[in-house]
Amino acid sequence: MAVTSDRPPATGPTFDSTSPASGEVVGTFPVQGPEQVAEAVARARPAAAWWAGLGFDGRRRRLLAYKALLARRCDELVDLVHRENGKPAVDAFVEVLLTVEHLHWAARNAAKVLRPRRAATTLVLANHAASVEYQPLGVVGVIGPWNYPVYTPSGTITSALAAGNAVVFKPSELTPAVGRFLADAFAEVVPEQPVLQVVTGDGATGNALCLAGVDKLAFTGSPATGRKVMAACAERLTPVVLELGGNDAMIVDEDADVDAAAEQAVWGGMANAGQTCLAIERVYVVQGVYDRFVDRVVELAAKVRPGAATDADIGPITLPGQLEVIRRQLADAFQRGARALVGGPDAVRPPYVDPVVLVDVPSDALLLRQETFGPVLPIVRVRDADEAVRRANASAYGLGAAVFARRHAGRIARSLRSGMVSVNSVLTFAGMPSLPFGGVGESGFGRVHGPDGLREFSRAKAITRQRFPLPFSVLSFDRPARLVPAVERAMKLRHGRRPRR
Ligand code: NAD
Repeated sequence: MAVTSDRPPATGPTFDSTSPASGEVVGTFPVQGPEQVAEAVARARPAAAWWAGLGFDGRRRRLLAYKALLARRCDELVDLVHRENGKPAVDAFVEVLLTVEHLHWAARNAAKVLRPRRAATTLVLANHAASVEYQPLGVVGVIGPWNYPVYTPSGTITSALAAGNAVVFKPSELTPAVGRFLADAFAEVVPEQPVLQVVTGDGATGNALCLAGVDKLAFTGSPATGRKVMAACAERLTPVVLELGGNDAMIVDEDADVDAAAEQAVWGGMANAGQTCLAIERVYVVQGVYDRFVDRVVELAAKVRPGAATDADIGPITLPGQLEVIRRQLADAFQRGARALVGGPDAVRPPYVDPVVLVDVPSDALLLRQETFGPVLPIVRVRDADEAVRRANASAYGLGAAVFARRHAGRIARSLRSGMVSVNSVLTFAGMPSLPFGGVGESGFGRVHGPDGLREFSRAKAITRQRFPLPFSVLSFDRPARLVPAVERAMKLRHGRRPRR
């Protein structure tokens, strides 16, 4: 059954969202332009003040009610994600599961992280008390991608709402029905004010949101669009959070559990048909365990079946244009001497891509340098863990990474240039609500989730309060002449000693 937006414009253009597997129309939505986006932001202003006024406790109760509603309506949401995005039901379910867990954590921890707290004072200002508090920014604009239409925007929206902001959310034009579902569900538990609104349309609608004077713009998508978002936001000095693409590496060291590493490489690289910003896109395996690892990966990857069924292993490629990117990267790798051990040059069968496992891929191949967003796993043999780290770090991206190792796991994890890393698992940091989520380099900046995510959508406010006046102060024209030399002597006594070695 097609979902029709409950808020169609009186007149004006609309667009259809369709199933990538069958072409069936899932819903029809308005293309909202600058005027409608500005209206949504204007409606959000009083809603933000009302939401902030509820305080931590009022917001916690409502966010927990929203969480409970999503958990109860999980089947409906999973079905919608399957139809609109194409992914198998279990992948859609994992999105809902993680979303609910993040909501639970943020609702229960926002007060602890953001409540006003006393800060240390200093000798010079000993007569002043110091405190810091984290105030909401106001209205946060959120622009989302299609590949995790529930989990990805929800992580950002959850941090922003829990910190006391209203949100105007522009979902991907490929998954507007999922975006609408999230906002409608929120309105059921918070009917008083439009605290979470959705505007629909393509990049032009997103651009309008960047220019609409929101207090922060949180964007998740490709680095190319991220650049445009940042440039547009610069016009009004709107601060941005950019959660961009990845080319995540996995490192398998000599003493790793090879079977576990192979199983997680295949899942991490191919789940959601590889359309995951945190997908394992490159595997560097130390030579002593290379053959065993490759054999096991081949065995497992050969069983991964694409299809339209809710219980397929992987679904179709959601964005039709991505099929050409995958085809081009595979052709480039084969031309440079790569060998396929699973799949091959004809793996791309629109709208599906069969699993591909490649070896002998040279480091300048597009496959190792760019985001693929397909079920393609290149495995590279390296001499040792140091070479693996060097090659993993030779990337413009730096989102997540995975390490399979025992003795040197911690050292390897720390030396990887990435925002997140998992040891002896893949992607688990994304499901840990207490941890920050975000990348470095082409993978963006800023953090959502966890305490850092809550602070990302807050304004740190510093307050000093004079507890009692002093007879004299350096910070006054009224100071006696002898005061500054006396303070200088005291300063040298206190700070001027050379530190002990
Ligand atoms: P995209 O950049 O094409 O689009 C993302 C969103 O930006 C969409 O809603 C789109 O309508 C909007 N948009 C397009 N042009 C715009 C403009 N000029 N101004 C404002 N908004 C504009 O990305 P996509 O194809 O939807 O998503 C895939 C990308 O997202 C991949 O690179 C993936 O790695 C990345 N991603 C990153 C994360 C993360 O958390 N780091 C999570 C999921 C996806």
